[in-house]
Amino acid sequence: MTTSHYIAGHWVEGQGSDCISVNDPALGQPFAELMAASVSQVDQAVAAARSALPAWKSTCASERAAFLRGFAEQLGQRREALVTVQMRNNGKPRHEAEIDLDDAIATFGYYAELAEQLPSKNRTVPLAAPGFTARTRLEPVGVVGLIVPWNFPLVTSAWKLAPALAAGCTVVLKPSEVTPLIEQAYGQIADALGLPAGVLNIVNGKAETGAALSNHNGLDKLSFTGSNSVGSQVMRSASAQCRPVTLELGGKSAIVVFDDCDVDQAVEWIVAGISWNAGQMCSATSRLLVQDGIADALLPRLQAALENLRVGNPLTEEVDMGPLTSQAQWLKVASYFATAREEGLQCLAGGHALDREGWFVSPTLYTDVPKDSRLWTEEIFGPVLCARRFATEEQAIAEANDSRFGLVATVCSADLERAERVADALEVGHVWINSVQAVFVETSWGGTKGSGIGRELGPWGLSAYQSIKHVTRCLG
Ligand code: NAD
Repeated sequence: MTTSHYIAGHWVEGQGSDCISVNDPALGQPFAELMAASVSQVDQAVAAARSALPAWKSTCASERAAFLRGFAEQLGQRREALVTVQMRNNGKPRHEAEIDLDDAIATFGYYAELAEQLPSKNRTVPLAAPGFTARTRLEPVGVVGLIVPWNFPLVTSAWKLAPALAAGCTVVLKPSEVTPLIEQAYGQIADALGLPAGVLNIVNGKAETGAALSNHNGLDKLSFTGSNSVGSQVMRSASAQCRPVTLELGGKSAIVVFDDCDVDQAVEWIVAGISWNAGQMCSATSRLLVQDGIADALLPRLQAALENLRVGNPLTEEVDMGPLTSQAQWLKVASYFATAREEGLQCLAGGHALDREGWFVSPTLYTDVPKDSRLWTEEIFGPVLCARRFATEEQAIAEANDSRFGLVATVCSADLERAERVADALEVGHVWINSVQAVFVETSWGGTKGSGIGRELGPWGLSAYQSIKHVTRCLG
């Protein structure tokens, strides 16, 4: 049993009723367990964050920046342990676990820099009216609840924690019950750095714990990353209390491949966009739109590339793709394989669970998928790619935009003018041209339509934790 809740600067045992099993998805076996936090422990965490707020928001920004740099350094010092726990609990291949850690390190480093620049953002506002002066103050929003999913645990938490702490907010973080051990590193680092008690609190648990946090009337804001169904519940709680919310939700993103592409290069981008993290990415480019002139050459090579991916246990084998992270996700993806069979979809690769221990599925490709198929419209969250052909640029844009989601898109074309034009026309939060899933901390993250509300990363990620105040004085 693991002690797993960090409240008011102390590690405490969970007093909730749920026992959480922490699984190795490559074996389909638990390797640790912990008790969830109780509702009253969530109260204690919020109270701790509230009492730590006045002192933390009054620290000078450079002091907060020093703590953030400390987080970046300490993450680096824990590299092997953090890479291993992600491989074991998420099923990530080693190189992907390394990328996640490096992303988290870069995020803390970046927001340390932005924290240092904060004083210069509090500035005079030139007024046309005579007889008055005005100045801006950017203040922390206050106590924030942060609820995150399991697919990129180090990363989704860092994208919230680092800007929230930089802004001067105090936080209660609730990691996913699927991967509850990974973000414990943030509590251990807070301990090691001597972060004042209550500035960062971590409570683990399932839906009950998440709901206790998102419904809590002691929060000033809730930032949530996860599914649309839970996101809408979180938004209802926020609306009941008229308080701000950031939502980073699901996606069903398009990758548009024009016929002037190098076929092998395009195949590489398509495969990466659907197989990284075994397709368990909000930003997976799971809808392939391929132009008529290249489709016949591209699809067989794509089929071969997917079939050649080395799928296995990242802890014991050299792999390109690991298992799905949870049994629930494995069952969900398997249910889409069944739907595809019922709908009579044409399967060019995979389409089944692997016949071995653990929660593995084959990288999968369906072609000529009808626009009204559930596989074309719904987020599957697995290595399942659906393809359709298009003739013209206008058709590609219309089909890419025909989705209730709007997170990201990838455009592949040798004609850069066209690629830029298409990027401008896509109704999403982020477009990659001739690259795939290239996330930089300086650029924003977040979606349009059903993919969420608000932005993370870049200066927008910091603004999400700031409140704008103006002070206007009559010179009288
Ligand atoms: P999920 O919505 O099931 O869970 C997310 C978090 O919410 C977990 O910590 C969970 O315990 C908690 N939770 C569950 N019920 C709750 C409730 N009633 N009230 C409050 N909290 C509750 O999502 P998941 O399965 O962990 O993650 C997968 C989803 O996350 C996918 O839809 C994916 O697209 C999305 N996601 C989005 C982004 C993004 O940046 N847009 C990034 C990663 C994942």
